[in-house]
Amino acid sequence: MHLAGVAQQALLDQEAHRLYGLLGSVSRQDGTKWTAEQCWQAAPLVLRINQLKKEKNAVILAHSYTTPDLVYGVADFSGDSYALSRKAAETSADTIIFAGVWFMAETAKILNPSKRVIIPAGRAGCTLADAITQEEVCALKAGHPGVPVLCYVNSTADVKAVSDICVTSGNVFDIAAKLPQKELIFVPDLLMARNLEIELQRRGTPKKVIAAGGSCCVHDKYKPENVAALRRQYPGIKVLVHPECHPEVCAAADYVGSTQGMTEYVAKSDGKLFGLLTEQGLVNRLEAEYKDKKFVGPFGICSYMKLNTLTNTMKALLNPSPDQVVELAPDVIERARKSLENMFEMSR
Ligand code: SF4
Repeated sequence: MHLAGVAQQALLDQEAHRLYGLLGSVSRQDGTKWTAEQCWQAAPLVLRINQLKKEKNAVILAHSYTTPDLVYGVADFSGDSYALSRKAAETSADTIIFAGVWFMAETAKILNPSKRVIIPAGRAGCTLADAITQEEVCALKAGHPGVPVLCYVNSTADVKAVSDICVTSGNVFDIAAKLPQKELIFVPDLLMARNLEIELQRRGTPKKVIAAGGSCCVHDKYKPENVAALRRQYPGIKVLVHPECHPEVCAAADYVGSTQGMTEYVAKSDGKLFGLLTEQGLVNRLEAEYKDKKFVGPFGICSYMKLNTLTNTMKALLNPSPDQVVELAPDVIERARKSLENMFEMSR
């Protein structure tokens, strides 16, 4: 074999071994684990994407709900919406490749109007973000003058632009509790709105939460019986859920929190067995990073997040199609940015 070919082969070997070291303990959607062969198949694309990233001064941000080959192969940062929006705000790269869904890529653009923001999956939707329009929020505001509007980060740029403060699942309770008003409007997650009202009551800062929108198609499927079944099958198990779940599910769990919050809970816990009623991508990250702990479901799958692949990430770097490039009107960017800045300010 030619010398350059030998060196390239060595690089591929090294990358495939690195991937398998991380992914060998990680479950795929069909319940099997990543095999050495699958890591071998991914390695050439992973190397090529990482090389292109350097050539184009690009950064790749990948939501934890995308697939582990993206998260551990090519992402510079991965995490939940809030962590990634902070990273997007800090980056000095010329191009941001945002492996996630459309509203997240919009958020990166709002925070970096002068940069090129590209989403491998194109216009990947979200049942929450797509549940309410700007016009519906404006109508709600008109019906409740003076009531502050909190929008969950899982909302479109247009909705953020007419909201007062953006919030995430990690900071919604603290920010809502700090507001002086006794009423607030919360969009677009009806279940989180109910959880918010309950939590504000529990903290001794009760407020009326006026809600509109829909629900997350992954988290709204869970029932209290899922928690009960886990406790029956695994006595002593710790059950973790997301605040996008029904309040009855949250009430039955040991911990309710954001993707980041769940990760921190697992990291700090001496426990070895956890029931996770959330998206499988987070479970994959925990399987890769806490190999001495075991995670059981039922896990959900966000089909929108899984539209991001190594192949369309490479296309996004090489020759993005118009539906992969995020463009927003300057006035939408300006107004939506204010709601994000209010969140950063109130989370300090
Ligand atoms: S998991 Fe739910 S909230 Fe998150 S992107 Fe998918 S549909 Fe939207």
